[in-house]
Amino acid sequence: MKNFYTCLVVGAGPSGSSAAYTFAKNGIDACVIDKAIFPRDKLCGGLLTRRTKQCYSDVFCSGWDDVYECKSNGALFFHKGQMINAIENYGELYFCNRRTFDHALLEKVTATGADVVLGDRVEVVDTTSRTCLLHSGRKIGYRYMIGADGVNSVVARAITSKGFDRSRFAFAVQAETPDIICKQEDMVMPEIYFGEVDWGYGWVFPKKNSCSVGIGGLCKKSGDVTRRFREFYFARTNQLYSAPLKGHYIPFGNFSRNAVAKDIIIVGDAAGLVDPITGEGIAYGNLYKF
Ligand SMILES: Cc1cc2nc3c(=O)[nH]c(=O)nc-3n(C[C@H](O)[C@H](O)[C@H](O)COP(=O)(O)OP(=O)(O)OC[C@H]3O[C@@H](n4cnc5c(N)ncnc54)[C@H](O)[C@@H]3O)c2cc1C
Repeated sequence: MKNFYTCLVVGAGPSGSSAAYTFAKNGIDACVIDKAIFPRDKLCGGLLTRRTKQCYSDVFCSGWDDVYECKSNGALFFHKGQMINAIENYGELYFCNRRTFDHALLEKVTATGADVVLGDRVEVVDTTSRTCLLHSGRKIGYRYMIGADGVNSVVARAITSKGFDRSRFAFAVQAETPDIICKQEDMVMPEIYFGEVDWGYGWVFPKKNSCSVGIGGLCKKSGDVTRRFREFYFARTNQLYSAPLKGHYIPFGNFSRNAVAKDIIIVGDAAGLVDPITGEGIAYGNLYKF
């Protein structure tokens, strides 16, 4: 590992891996740093739309049969527990486990020869000296920096005068359960639930050996999402959810208007780039159009 890179990428989620891969493939010396050791978990429904598939293919120029777990071509829609629509010929929908999906993307980065630093957090970004200070005490210099460090981005705070307004975020709670299946006849079918929270929705998404059950909504409109999750989980599975709950913010409709400054660009969740209606965000971190 060097002490200076032309392009330093903070965060190795889909946004950071897409960026690091793109730079390294184009012969630019790049390094990606993540506070986690991969493979790592990331709370996410793991729904991959055709948009995500297209972005993936544009960035990584490869097929993706090895990165998703299951596939569907329809969805079931519910309102206050009653099924209101079943779409059976929507087109392609894919479902991944973010632990393996993000790890697969990062392995593609590693294969380019880019440096990958894991298990070390960026704590301070000094835009004057163009360096960042890691938790380990190490300092790394950069010419350009990509802030792909998610919804609580340290990099975003270094270039925007004020952080995001959390009351404008969405908050989502999700659990994996092997105890239910999402199937209608022989087809794997994701389920979308309206009317469970205001300004949000619930979901049950299929995975290979489990389902993701989650609920999320805009913080200031959705009340106690944690309580609503427990009620929703019970209604869908007929079981009480007793394990510790995991929740995460989504930068719903809260994108940064100053995503570029001082030779730094913030991308993905760090820049608030999620669909403000569905919360879909995996596709929006890609740099290929910049
Ligand atoms: C419950 C839930 C369900 C969702 N479901 C879907 C879905 O089904 N489909 C979809 O498309 N989107 C979904 N999303 C949104 C999606 O997860 C995000 O939009 C997407 O992960 C953004 O990717 P990213 O690379 O920008 O950030 P992240 O995936 O959050 O990656 C950021 C990375 O930065 C690292 N990091 C953070 N801070 C530092 C630091 N200081 N130093 C070093 N590293 C750091 C983290 O460890 C992490 O690996 C969901 C979100 C939630 C919360």
